[in-house]
Parts: sequence; C-alpha cells; structure tokens
Amino acid sequence: MFTFKKFLVLLIAVTVGVFLYNIWTVENKPPGIEYSVFLHQLKQNEIKSVHMRGGDIRGKDIHKQPFSTFSPDVKGLMEILNSKNVTITASPEARPSPFWQSTFPVLLLMAFWIFFMVRQQKGGMGDFGKSKLKLDRGSLQQVTFDDVAGIPEAKEELVEIVHFLKNPGKYEKLGGKIPKGVLLQGQPGTGKTLLAKAIAGEAGVPFYSISGSDFVEMFVGVGASRVRELFNKAKENIPCIVFIDEIDAVGRHRGAAEAGGQEEKDQTLNALLVEMDGFQTGQTVIIVGATNRPDVLDPALMRPGRFDRQVTILPPDVKGREQILKVHSRNLVLAQDVELGNVAFSTPGFTGADLANLLNESALLAARKDKDVIELVDIEESRDKVLMGAKRKGMVISESERRTTAYHEAGHAILASILPDTDPLHKVTIIPHGRAMGVTQQVPLQDHHAYSREYLLNRIKILLGGRTAEELVFNQYTTGASNDLQQATEIANKMVCEWGMSEVLGPRAYAVENKGFLEGEMVVKNVSEDTAKNIDREINKIIEQCYQEAVIILEGKINYLHKLAAVLLEQETIDAEGVDIIIQCKATGEGEPVSVLDENITSLS
Ligand code: ADP
Ligand code: ZN
Repeated sequence: MFTFKKFLVLLIAVTVGVFLYNIWTVENKPPGIEYSVFLHQLKQNEIKSVHMRGGDIRGKDIHKQPFSTFSPDVKGLMEILNSKNVTITASPEARPSPFWQSTFPVLLLMAFWIFFMVRQQKGGMGDFGKSKLKLDRGSLQQVTFDDVAGIPEAKEELVEIVHFLKNPGKYEKLGGKIPKGVLLQGQPGTGKTLLAKAIAGEAGVPFYSISGSDFVEMFVGVGASRVRELFNKAKENIPCIVFIDEIDAVGRHRGAAEAGGQEEKDQTLNALLVEMDGFQTGQTVIIVGATNRPDVLDPALMRPGRFDRQVTILPPDVKGREQILKVHSRNLVLAQDVELGNVAFSTPGFTGADLANLLNESALLAARKDKDVIELVDIEESRDKVLMGAKRKGMVISESERRTTAYHEAGHAILASILPDTDPLHKVTIIPHGRAMGVTQQVPLQDHHAYSREYLLNRIKILLGGRTAEELVFNQYTTGASNDLQQATEIANKMVCEWGMSEVLGPRAYAVENKGFLEGEMVVKNVSEDTAKNIDREINKIIEQCYQEAVIILEGKINYLHKLAAVLLEQETIDAEGVDIIIQCKATGEGEPVSVLDENITSLS
C-alpha cells in the first residue's frame, strides 16, 4: 500500500533532484564579462563563436575561452557579428522563468499528492481504480460445513443462518426477523474465517470479505467510504455474506484512549453502524464479524439489529482435534502407524490452524526424506516444530499446569453441581481460553432480576472452589485463582454495602465509590471509622464462611474431585451430564434452564 512514509521519501528525492539541477546549471554558466568588454573584443576580431538566446549570449573567444554576457541591443549586435564573420547559433528565448523554475517542483509534488490520494480512495496500489473488496464467487462453492470440524456448537448455531439465507421468505412470512449480524469470537486460527466461508458455501451466496486492519493505514475519511462501498456492493448482490475480519481494529470503544487515528476509526465505526442499521427487511445481507478481542469492542456494535448473535469458538478438545486432523488428512497419504486419535491427544491447546499446519509440515518433511507415506515420526518431529512456534506465542501448557487446572476447574464444577439454589453447570473444560487456563460454565435458570442471599453465598463458594481444590490436593495456591477471588470479593462487598445483607450492619446501603482505575477497588464513602471497620469485618466473615464450607464439601467429595480431574485431563471437556455421572449427584435447580445461548452462560476460570 502506498503510505505516507513512501510519499515522504519521494518528496525528499524530488527536492534533492531540483536542488542539484539548480546547482548544476549555475555552476556550468561560463564566466560573465561586461558587454562593453565583449564589444571591444568583437571589434578586435577576438570572438570566434556565439550562441544567442535572446539577449543572453554565450560564446568562445579565439583562445577557446568560454564567456557569457548580456546584450541590451540584439539588433545592433547582429550587424556587427555579421560583419566580423563570427559563427552564430541561436535558440528561442523561452527559458524557464525564475518563477516557473521555483513553482514547478511544488506543482509536481501537488500533482503527485492528488494522484495518490485518488489512487488510495479507489484501492490499493496494485489494482488501480478497484477496491480491495474481494468477491469470492468462485471459491465459495468449495468450502462447506464438511470442511469445518471439531467445533460442533458453533456449527449448530450457524446452520440456522444458512436456513435464513436459503429461504428468507419462509421466516418473513411468519413475521420473524432475520438476524443481521453474527459475531464470531475466538483466538486466531480457531476457524472463524472458515466458518464464515462455509456459511456462504452452504447457502450458495456470494461472500464479501474485508479486514478491519485494512482501515488502519488509511487517509482520513477513506475507511468510512470503504465501508459504504462494501455495503453498496453487498446490497446489489443479495442474499450474501459480508465478512469483516479483525473487527476490533475499527470497532474499538469509541473514545477509548489510544494514540493516533482514533478519529478515523470513529468515523469508520460510525459508518459501519449506520450501514448495519440501514438495511430494509428483505435485504438479506448477513454480516459476520470476527474478533479475538470481544472485550474491547464498542457495546454499540452488540445492540439488537446489529451483531445480535454472538458465537464463541473455543480451541478444540481432544475429540475435536481428531476430527480436524481427519478433515485435513483427507488428501494425505498416512502410514499405518499413524493414529490420529493419539496425535490429537498429544496436541493440547492446538487450534484448527495449528493442526492444519502440523499435517502440512509433516507432509513436507516426509517428502524431503523421499518417503512415500507420512509416518508418525514425521508428525512428531513437525509437532515439536509447531510447538516451538506456539511456545513463542506463550500457548504451551506444561503437564503440571494442566493438572493444577484440572483440579481447579473440577473444584468449581463439583460445587456448582452439588450446591442447591444455584445455576446449573453447563460445561467444564481445561482448554485454555484467552488468559484463562480453563473454564467452568453455568447456565442461569431464568433471567435473574433479583438474587437471593443463598444464591449469592453459593456463588461465592463456587468461585472459591477452584482455589480450595488446589489447596486440598497440592497444598499450594497458584495465581490462576486471582480472578475468582476478585469476583467473590466483589459479590461479598455488594452484599454488605449495597444489598443490606449483613446482620451486623443491617438493611442500609453504603455509598461505594469506585476508586482508581482498577475495577473492583471499592472505597466506602462518608462512614465513620467504626462502620468502615465493621464493613470490612463483615465482608471478611462472608468470604471466610463460604471458604470453610467449600473446604468441607470438597473434602467430603475428594474421591469425586480426583475422578473428575482425571477425566478432565483425559477428555479436556466434560458437559453437565458427564459431571453428573461422575459425581452421581444431580443438580437441584428448579425449573427449566433458559436456552443455552452464548450471552446467557456465565463462565468462571
Ligand atoms: P481464524 O479466522 O479464526 O483466525 P481461520 O478460519 O483463518 O482462523 O483458520 C485458518 C485455517 O485453519 C483454516 O483455513 C483451516 O484450514 C484451519 N482450521 C481452523 N479451524 C478449523 C476447523 N474447526 N476445522 C477444520 N479446519 C480448521
Ligand atoms: Zn477459577
């Protein structure tokens, strides 16, 4: 892409060129003599030749010495020259005037600038006049859901979108509104782009894609017009999929502190929001956004009618990895000794992209060794290579870390299953997700509007359960529990200060101020020192009691804790049913769980 930097380099080059040219012409001018001297020499027959350019005269004398001078009377001079038999040459007078000489480079630069601005507007350097938008009509038939493996939940949610795209009329007849946007969240390489392409492929609709980072290096106003251009094109080709990769590059919190280009991003984001709101019913354009930083996205993007669906894609578990390996080895010749299940087992934390890369590297390696088939040793050697790359990215988990995480999550999960009056367990996993080493997810029974004291206490116990399990088994703590502790403390804090749930302090609320930039750092305002001490004591009491109870429960179920951790180490992910089978104890929640949508699930790590 033509950047401002390159423009600067060009500018400097042109300036230096003009400068050198000026020096050269000045230096090359022969020594000047007075006109009277020249006339005198001429009359003495000492001039051999002259070159005239209007009144400007350059020439050589009979000793071949160059000179220059200026004639105020060209006509009169010509007569004398003629009579003296001097060789005369001449050229037209129109020399660049000093004005022209000094303005020309400036005009040239301006022309350059305008030229590249226009070029920039229309697209990259390579394809003049064409936008960067990619219309993948040809490739779209090739990618289908069959190419996407190991992420069944995400696939399930997106199958519905394919239905929408295939028969939009059916939904509209029933008065249903077709979703406008789907936001795919997940770390790089988990298959977000692949899924978006598969939706288009399955539905047989055009696929337009653009990346948020394309907007970053642009002149002001271009990002916004690019967005409008994209949507205009999409509207001409409905139904279709518009895929915006790295949407966080433009969709960051408006006004979030960030150096440079903020205004430009705001403009682009606003254009995006306006376009998303601007669809009429019947214009079936589904926008699929992808990000690995959902936390920095502007909440405005998530409002209904924009990205109203959110799908989180976790890195695949053992089974998922095996399926992905199967997909990517379809065209590979594998030796008999290669068990994809074992390969899957030895690649915890690998994403789909890592696995595809692993198999590709193995094929290259086998080819380099002149083999006819890919053997297990090739895969193992390549795995170490891919792992090295992963290590640099900080993704590799040691065996002891996995063990600690398994017990930590098992602790959360057992308490979540056993304790009454709490949200039922949804899933527990030791696959790292974001900064968390593992995740325990719960689904709320219904939309909570009010929480009971019981519910809140149990929630604190569940939060403390991870750390408690680590302590019981390893007799040590890790930093993995810090977020749990923060959340537990916050709940206890609110119980005492906001919800009047402490017997000592009674039913009154204390003004709490969020001090400093660290969230959760609460400071109680306008209370006496005694009361502040009491508040502190009450918060500590709640946490201490919950902790004791968590210890008692987990000690009583220590066998289940070991069992659950062992299964987690083997399978990486267990759903609620699996946990129930292991601990032989049903969750005692009342009523039906609400639908398992992403936005309903609460996760703790
Ligand atoms: P993302 O957009 O999330 O960064 P991509 O969709 O670009 O990831 O994935 C890169 C490549 O990794 C894909 O082209 C595909 O070959 C492979 N891949 C990733 N996830 C999967 C998956 N679930 N099933 C099959 N292949 C996958
Ligand atoms: Zn935890």
